[in-house]
Amino acid sequence: MPTGFDAEKVRADFPVLQQFVNGKPLVYLDNGATSQKPQAVIDEIVRYYTTENANVHRGVHTLSQQATDDYEGARAKLRRLLNAADDQEIIYTRGTTEGINLVAHSYGRPNIGPGDEIIISNMEHHSNIVPWQMLCEEKGAVLRVIPIDDTGELLMDEYEAMLNPRTKLVSITHVSNALGTIQPVEQIIEMAHAHGAPVLLDGAQAVPHLPVDVRQLDCDFYVFSGHKLFGPTGTGVLYGKAELLDAMPPMYGGGEMIKSVTFEKTIYNDLPYKFEAGTPNIAGAIGLGAAVDYVQSVGYQAFGPYEDELLEYGTKALSSIGGLRIIGTSPRKTGILSFVIDNIHPHDIGTILDAEGIAVRTGHHCAQPVMQRFQIPATARASLAMYNTKADIDALVRGIDRVIEVFS
Ligand SMILES: *Cc1c(COP(=O)(O)O)cnc(C)c1O
Repeated sequence: MPTGFDAEKVRADFPVLQQFVNGKPLVYLDNGATSQKPQAVIDEIVRYYTTENANVHRGVHTLSQQATDDYEGARAKLRRLLNAADDQEIIYTRGTTEGINLVAHSYGRPNIGPGDEIIISNMEHHSNIVPWQMLCEEKGAVLRVIPIDDTGELLMDEYEAMLNPRTKLVSITHVSNALGTIQPVEQIIEMAHAHGAPVLLDGAQAVPHLPVDVRQLDCDFYVFSGHKLFGPTGTGVLYGKAELLDAMPPMYGGGEMIKSVTFEKTIYNDLPYKFEAGTPNIAGAIGLGAAVDYVQSVGYQAFGPYEDELLEYGTKALSSIGGLRIIGTSPRKTGILSFVIDNIHPHDIGTILDAEGIAVRTGHHCAQPVMQRFQIPATARASLAMYNTKADIDALVRGIDRVIEVFS
């Protein structure tokens, strides 16, 4: 049933989308790599640099106080977005990658030792694989990987069998960037907690599509990137339960993260500042706050069902193309249409689509193990956002028809 969502109205808020690329109206279907920015976010960054720029938490002067208010105000918006209990549980990061590395460093190093086990899945982004491999190598710990089935869903029985008293952390993507699968995260968390293991969720592909409530989920850590949520690059959030974050040592030392410094002893600052050494990305954080405002003004309850409708429309349209196979066919999906076409390399698909003004991602999507699982080197991936339309999907289908024509 059509949802009545006005995607054209949303689209009008995104200046980048109002252009021609290679002589064709831009069809942007690479939102899984990064999303476009609404005018409200761009304006907020310009406003900050034009009228307010100053360092935060330092000066008594007016601009510094205004900058601090806005920087901390954005943190409160992010706390509300995730329904965290307290602003001190919201740590600014440069993105998902830094958030995971921070947890691997500051939680992993003190708590994971020889023979301990960390569980991830077969459909993780490299940023939720490599930091754990590095930690395992350093500590003599073991990385265990939950296998997936042919539709791209976790084999939950295998997961259950993996959990044991040596399990010290479970780190799983909330939504797969390569397949679009929405993981049964409530169940994953419950099962891990039953074995005393905390859970980190990689929310990079979830937050742009689904409302996330970290307290309802009861996850221990949650990370995402601002740039995939219509915010600036170089921004992101690590949510952690206060009692866990409190017990963790900082990752970086420097200004801002200290209460007092002598050559004998440094007293670390309180949360969240303990994890925010140095001058932060102030403009980025404030821009991300504006992105949160924007997303909430459109409303998950409005664009969520619309995106589902669009995904279903796209799935049907692509499925009807001869020789095309969708990779990732779980009924629980959001935002992602990965596909391969018989005898045509994904790179060639991407190149021909680009000539038609259509932006998709081709390659392994920083998830090589999932490609190996499906025995393919790469896919082409169309990834959706709230501003995409059925007309974008129709253009994609025409573009793919063109690709097949060229190679036949
Ligand atoms: C994009 C992405 C990341 C990495 O995010 P960065 O912004 O590059 O740090 C990690 N996990 C998933 C699922 C992603 O989609």
